[in-house]
Amino acid sequence: MKNNSKTPLILIDRDGTLIFDNKYHLGRTNDWKKKIKFLPGVINGIKKLKKIPNIKIYMVTNQPGVAIKDFKLLTKERAEQVAQYIEEKLNKRGAIIDGHFVCGHASPAYTKKRSEYKFHKKLICNCTCIKPNYGMVFDALKKEGLKKSNTNIYVIGDRISDIKTALKVNGKGIFVPFKGEKEEIEKINKIKNKNKKSIYLAKNFLDATKLIIKKEKR
Ligand SMILES: [Mg+2]
Ligand SMILES: [Zn+2]
Repeated sequence: MKNNSKTPLILIDRDGTLIFDNKYHLGRTNDWKKKIKFLPGVINGIKKLKKIPNIKIYMVTNQPGVAIKDFKLLTKERAEQVAQYIEEKLNKRGAIIDGHFVCGHASPAYTKKRSEYKFHKKLICNCTCIKPNYGMVFDALKKEGLKKSNTNIYVIGDRISDIKTALKVNGKGIFVPFKGEKEEIEKINKIKNKNKKSIYLAKNFLDATKLIIKKEKR
């Protein structure tokens, strides 16, 4: 089957990829709308991607803050509201995406790292939706009525967890640098040799989208 007869499905991370991430845990305060700022190239990049025939674009985001008891306002509903608002904001600017998925769980490893917080015990798990697991990718496939075998999956993100999510579904992981990028690149380099054709280090978001456009033109 020719590469371009498959449907391209793009999963884009939210914090540090689409918008600035200053450990806000958007939604935990009432002024969250003011804190949303798209990163350079995001609006243009999505507009360009959207020109690829049949392309589907989803935002997929881990929001472990939902599991943090101390963030009383940041419920699953609030996290969903924030994601919905970001999607609408993108769409209003002509950067049309097809939907979003939010994971509101925290992994046991995360709770250890953030021992200063109290967590909702019920929300601590290594659920299938939490990246680097691929649950949200399958949610998107299901919503679009697509099969993995007929889809070219790309995950764009600023963390190794985004890249690993792509690898788990035989997709391509495209890293875009944000804060803490050195540490992430080090982690990626450790797995890069084994996965040369599946991992790309982009300079920025626009660069990431150009890569996908090039691949899909073949
Ligand atoms: Mg991120
Ligand atoms: Zn989850």
